[in-house]
Amino acid sequence: MAPDGNRPVPLVIQVCRSGLGRTPVTPQFLRKNSRVKLIFTLILLVAVVESAAGQSVPLPRPRPSPAAASTPDQPEPSACRLRLTAQFAIAPSLPPLDGPGECAVTDVVRLEAVVLPNGSRVALTPPATLRCEMAEAIAHWVREDVAPAAQELGAPLRSIDNYASYHCRGRNNIVGAPLSEHGRANALDIRSLRLANGKLMALTDPHVARDFREDIRKSACGRFSTVLGPGSDGYHEDHVHVDLQERRRGRSALCHWDVRDPEPPAGGAEAAGVPLPPPRPKAESRMGKKL
Ligand SMILES: [Zn+2]
Repeated sequence: MAPDGNRPVPLVIQVCRSGLGRTPVTPQFLRKNSRVKLIFTLILLVAVVESAAGQSVPLPRPRPSPAAASTPDQPEPSACRLRLTAQFAIAPSLPPLDGPGECAVTDVVRLEAVVLPNGSRVALTPPATLRCEMAEAIAHWVREDVAPAAQELGAPLRSIDNYASYHCRGRNNIVGAPLSEHGRANALDIRSLRLANGKLMALTDPHVARDFREDIRKSACGRFSTVLGPGSDGYHEDHVHVDLQERRRGRSALCHWDVRDPEPPAGGAEAAGVPLPPPRPKAESRMGKKL
């Protein structure tokens, strides 16, 4: 067959022709001439590299960095989320709540327990579904006010009875009423607290130590924008509602919880010759103004 004039001459042969003239490159020749052997080895290496480079091998795609992996379902953690560490609360993040209208809430957590400064836990039973900032406010309230007040009763605080947290509904469960803060995951209803000795302290029970209930009321009204209990509207006689409702500028917080005394004994206090105390104010704001 006639040689093809356009066919490229391999590099090895080119160099051999130019560097060694017409001397045949035999094994005997290489054994005698070590310098030529070294050159020949290098030429072979270059030829192998050229051949490998000529083949196109697809490289794997670079992996996305963790920051670039954020999606609408998994946005960057909020400032609240970064603050609400396991030192303060057991509160895993939840996916956004896709309720209708304003009931769609983002940055939500499941508040399972508040962690006290001594490391012990106060469980929420059942766990509460709350906006992160509401969960954070509850955690600070329990750590700094509620747990120390409960300790005064003789035993550490162990759990909080969560009566309601997220629930897409109108205020007081009335259809057509303005959306409740529960529908924004911004409210918590509490019925009672349980101590480590097993005692159950209902916040609205007049037989529970009055000073304790007063302490809880004052601290709640200092932290939350709405506090509703017995005497507020007839819907909160057996539990206390706290929320972080945003109010227009100049509108004061709503603190409406009558801390009641036990009913007088049968026959009435007057029959027993005991003078009745003056009636308690029904409501007050932070400014001391009656509502
Ligand atoms: Zn409520």
